[in-house]
Amino acid sequence: MSDRLCNLTIHEIHELLRKKQVSAREIAESFIRRIEEVDPRVRAFITTTPDYALKQAEAVDQAISRGEAIGPLAGVPAAIKDNMCTRGIFTTCASKILYNYKPIYDATVVERLYMAGATLVGKTNLDEFAMGSSTENSGFFVTRNPWNLDTVPGGSSGGSAAAVAADECAFALGSDTGGSIRQPASFCGVVGMKPTYGRVSRYGLVAFASSLDQIGPITKDVTDCAIVLNAICGKDRRDSTSLDVPVPDFTQSLRADVKGLKIGVPKEFFGFGTDPDVQAAVRKAVDLLTELGAHAEETSMPSVEYGLAVYYIIAPAECSSNLARYDGVRYGLRVAPDSGTVTRQTRGSKSSIVSMFERTREQGFGAEVKQRIMIGTYALSAGYYDAYYLKAQKVRTLLRRDFDKAFEKYDILVTPTSPTVAFGIGERADDPYAMKLADICTIPANLAGIPGISVPCGFKNGLPIGLQIMAKALDEETLIRAAFTYEQHTEYHRKKPQL
Ligand code: GLN
Repeated sequence: MSDRLCNLTIHEIHELLRKKQVSAREIAESFIRRIEEVDPRVRAFITTTPDYALKQAEAVDQAISRGEAIGPLAGVPAAIKDNMCTRGIFTTCASKILYNYKPIYDATVVERLYMAGATLVGKTNLDEFAMGSSTENSGFFVTRNPWNLDTVPGGSSGGSAAAVAADECAFALGSDTGGSIRQPASFCGVVGMKPTYGRVSRYGLVAFASSLDQIGPITKDVTDCAIVLNAICGKDRRDSTSLDVPVPDFTQSLRADVKGLKIGVPKEFFGFGTDPDVQAAVRKAVDLLTELGAHAEETSMPSVEYGLAVYYIIAPAECSSNLARYDGVRYGLRVAPDSGTVTRQTRGSKSSIVSMFERTREQGFGAEVKQRIMIGTYALSAGYYDAYYLKAQKVRTLLRRDFDKAFEKYDILVTPTSPTVAFGIGERADDPYAMKLADICTIPANLAGIPGISVPCGFKNGLPIGLQIMAKALDEETLIRAAFTYEQHTEYHRKKPQL
């Protein structure tokens, strides 16, 4: 049986460990073998850490042999998106500018997973600094969708979603600034949740757009999602935006019961050139929830139409500031100055330090990152701040109000996660607008700070379709209950890609 261990969910692994039917070492070995077997094709990982996983597994086995009770994540192999700091282990953000960066500390989420006994099998690929929707913007290589190796896994947490779908880890962490957990989860047929902004500490998450970034789980089912949330949520004094609110036991919400639940179906989310088959799958899911006792009705949220435009002002503005720190002095790559430069800047000459900054950033950042830094710098410049940045912030407020209004009437909102299934590698590379459309359904939740989850709800041409459920801020419990109920009555989450 040991060779099928990597197919298991967190809760299944936990049962086997608890009953001593398998050791944490055997679990780790199964995933390590699976990575060796399929990752040359999927390419989900930038760095693998088999020795580290085995060492952590040994500690769990020792605890078990001492008769200690183990928690639900003990001995469970995890993959972490490579924009979260891991002490002594490369953390590259898939950028050449951080190709050799080894943090001296762990991100809070990583620390919490270790404390819960999870083992680390590796760091996953992403679009450089999490900027993109397909993982094609990685500075190193492209990750492939396990369901069809010629299609993208989505992005930016494409490595994490592909690793979960391909059974290369039991679960993964992703980060979601505009959809980067939910959209790749949708493309890869797994469960992905962006919690409420502030639910999970961002300490040690390399910042992209700080008012939007949020870490969350990518898992094989909703039960696992609740288990990981329990481990990573909660106030952290090292992140002043983390919320000091009680963290419920999310597994208590794993109840198959949606009786009386009020569902809003905002029609705008079906209008972005959404694939008719995706629309049909989502409407079928709504019908199922209705049959199970929920009340659904169509509604309208006029401002979501502006979500994409607002996001592509605010996110670049924040990134232009956050990425100013990569200058060749403090982290990663340093490119030597031009030979003609001098120590001190004088008229008609360039100082060697300025030349070093310029050459490091020019060679270290990829095209997408540079473009966003330029757009963001422009939007924040004195002459354009009011016209772009301030205006975008105002429209962001309107969007939040649309959500507030919707949640006065509805407990959850149900939409597609992405307008289409996974597209072909290279297909949208030269069409930035088409690329950005992949996140049009997910971005509004980031702008409003509310939680959203994507669960598998069908297939088109063998590629998974994702159902997005959103709830009001801090109401992850209702999200989990609705998603779990849906999952209990469908089989999509059990399907596995043939690799
Ligand atoms: N695709 C969006 C972008 O390119 C969202 C990315 C994300 O959520 N990190 O910015």
